Amino acid sequence: MAFQREGSIITWRPTDHITAWFSTRLGGTSLPPFDTMNLSFGVGDVSVSVKENRRRMLALMGRPLDDLVMPHQVHGGTVTWISAADRGRGRVPDVPPIPATDGFLTDAAEIVLGMGFADCVPIFLADVKGRFFGLLHAGWRGTAAKIQETAVQQLMQRGVLPEDIRVGLGPRIGPCCYEVDQPVYDRIRAVAGTAPLTPVDARHWRLDLHLANRLMLEAVGILPEHIDEAPYCTACHPELFFSYRRDHHVTGRMGGYICRT
Ligand SMILES: [Zn+2]
Repeated sequence: MAFQREGSIITWRPTDHITAWFSTRLGGTSLPPFDTMNLSFGVGDVSVSVKENRRRMLALMGRPLDDLVMPHQVHGGTVTWISAADRGRGRVPDVPPIPATDGFLTDAAEIVLGMGFADCVPIFLADVKGRFFGLLHAGWRGTAAKIQETAVQQLMQRGVLPEDIRVGLGPRIGPCCYEVDQPVYDRIRAVAGTAPLTPVDARHWRLDLHLANRLMLEAVGILPEHIDEAPYCTACHPELFFSYRRDHHVTGRMGGYICRT
């Protein structure tokens, strides 16, 4: 099942029982430069606006804000198991988030997993039987830290076969707009080879984060036909997305969400 634009959001429905959705900047209440659907409390936006925006994003799938669980994202490789007892953590600033993690897995029907994005790859995971689901935040650091591999291994430890895992790679900064230097080249080449890295000149490369993650997922047993890629570059579409690089770091955050439906 491919990613689809549905009004102000982009959805991915890998099974009858699990739905993932990703915000655009449309449909929110925030003022410039966070216009309009900024979903982060940590970028300088007005808290009342962000809370209302988050409420709207959850309401799109008929869920209350209290179901949302969000982490403190640190561009690492840690994947954390989320249980029903975590419901609501990180939904607003005065309720602390799950500490220092960029990966969530759960089987809790009452939970909506959420994270913030503004160029990094949202990686949605679903088991075809509709029980387990997950969400990862993978920029070049998370990709190099093998967060996708760790998540798949943790699902396998819980009895999920790799051929039963569906993966959705959401909107991110594309190779068209993402130039990296030698240190990043070295780290990505070490885990994914040179295929995701296209030379620009002697010291710069264009990095395809979708391809890097696809290759690493296939290497741990995910079938190529079970990986869907959203055809959007965040930097190429200022009308649809915030982009940390394009907007010179002062910008909002999109939200990626996944839950049982
Ligand atoms: Zn682009």
